[in-house]
Amino acid sequence: MARDAHTPPARSLDELRWRSDLRDALPGDDGPHDPTPRPVVAAGWVEARPEPVAAPRLVGWSGEVADLLGLDVQALHEPDVVAALAGNHLPAGAAPFAAAYGGHQFGTWAGQLGDGRAISLGEVSDAQGKIQQLQLKGAGPTAFSRTADGRAVLRSSLREFLCSEAMHHLGIPTTRALSLVTTGQDVVRDVLYDGNPAPEPGAICCRVAPSFLRIGSLELPAARGDERLLRATLALAMRHAGHDVAADDAADAAGEWFRDLCIETAELVAAWMRVGFVHGVLNTDNVSLLGLTIDYGPYGWLEPWDPDWTPNTTDADRRRYRFGMQPTVMQWNLLQCARALSLVVEDTAALERGLAAYAERYRSSFRRQQAERLGWGSWRSDGRDLALVDELEAILARSEVDHVLLHRRLSRIPTAPEALEELAGSDLVGLLDEAIYDPAQLRASGAGDALADWIREWAARARDSGIDEQERRGRMDALNPLYVPRNYLAQEAIDDAERGAPGLLEELMEVLRRPYEEQPGRERFARRRPEWARRRVGCSMLSCSS
Ligand code: AMP
Ligand code: MG
Repeated sequence: MARDAHTPPARSLDELRWRSDLRDALPGDDGPHDPTPRPVVAAGWVEARPEPVAAPRLVGWSGEVADLLGLDVQALHEPDVVAALAGNHLPAGAAPFAAAYGGHQFGTWAGQLGDGRAISLGEVSDAQGKIQQLQLKGAGPTAFSRTADGRAVLRSSLREFLCSEAMHHLGIPTTRALSLVTTGQDVVRDVLYDGNPAPEPGAICCRVAPSFLRIGSLELPAARGDERLLRATLALAMRHAGHDVAADDAADAAGEWFRDLCIETAELVAAWMRVGFVHGVLNTDNVSLLGLTIDYGPYGWLEPWDPDWTPNTTDADRRRYRFGMQPTVMQWNLLQCARALSLVVEDTAALERGLAAYAERYRSSFRRQQAERLGWGSWRSDGRDLALVDELEAILARSEVDHVLLHRRLSRIPTAPEALEELAGSDLVGLLDEAIYDPAQLRASGAGDALADWIREWAARARDSGIDEQERRGRMDALNPLYVPRNYLAQEAIDDAERGAPGLLEELMEVLRRPYEEQPGRERFARRRPEWARRRVGCSMLSCSS
């Protein structure tokens, strides 16, 4: 039952109406909770219990997610609620578990992975009657933890908390985050993998999503030939996406669902490419069956335009998950999903159609988006618009230009011939200076002239569209965010939080609630990366260690 408008907001997690959706839908390993690492077979979940922590303290919360769940935001600060968010108190009626899944990591089948440290408390009905699962990430070991400790450090938990909410406000599908709690306990990590492990403050992020099922949730039973679990998991994933079907019928109806998933995933990746999000670890265990951004690890936000950039130091040599590769690698991931499904889905042609739909939708979505964010309104399919976009990317590739600021400043450039005529090439590029790391170098390299020529061509194209200046600016700005969780800003928030001062995190969260709107007084959050952050770990290089 949903909490309706007449139900007062819940004052604690005990007051939520807990359900056991995933546990009821999938066969489970319901022996007593035992976090000894082991293979978990013929089961989609295993009993798990958060391990209490020493001194929980709430350092971040999302009012919107609290509202969504029908929770009183003020009550989040109550000691017993904070205790529940840290796993020290189990909400009445909650039956926690850890979910089983496998995955392809960096292109290689890795076998069973499972949630080694995200303990699901169960599901609740949100304010709209939709199911939401709550997970505590970093709450202690589970049967899937292998040799690891089941804990998470503050820096990675804060990054997940901040970015999931920022992504939501950018209008991009994502798992959400209700809270960030420090544990008062240190966690030992070797950040640079160079044999220097050191203690760091630990934290727990409470993640919220209708489903955390991943491609790897289907791959694990498929790899083991476990058709029963595969069908049940498929039916559950389909139900979350609104395709209500019994487990026995799921395989026959899977074609349409898979096609929808491929299309949603194409839209998701196109949105990432628009805002400059680099996931960093697009292994199949980190790809949602609901088209959500999931598992924020060594992700990064593209600042200077560079399609080859990846924040993930573990991937620095092969760059499999670099920015420009994301559309391709996601199709490979969906292919793995189709392969897993083919164990039970007879109509493999339908799966192939889904994969084709991915490529088609990505292409059309990319073009529609480019046309809109460049202020053209529509896309000319005769190749002229594509040539203009390619030309801009080629100029950016040989200069150092912040792509976020570039797009915002572009919308401010007048397109009327009289206005443009008055501006010499250098003045025109000067309008973009804020986005340019080294304006003198740009001009000396010849890229400045190329950019000025491009702007004139862009302006002519924009004039041709017939959209007036005012409207164009609004439409461009609606797709080009001004505020994104820049890597160095997140790092500054982490530095402060590690010193016990979560104020910057709160301010950043506030700014990122309205990423497309100019916010006077908040200019500092829209600046291009400062030089000190160029090579600092956490700002342009991210470790997988979390
Ligand atoms: P990731 O690279 O974060 O997607 O993690 C890959 C797998 O390792 C997942 O199954 C995680 O649950 C598991 N894992 C990562 N860190 C830990 C940890 N500290 N303790 C237990 N399991 C972990
Ligand atoms: Mg993961």
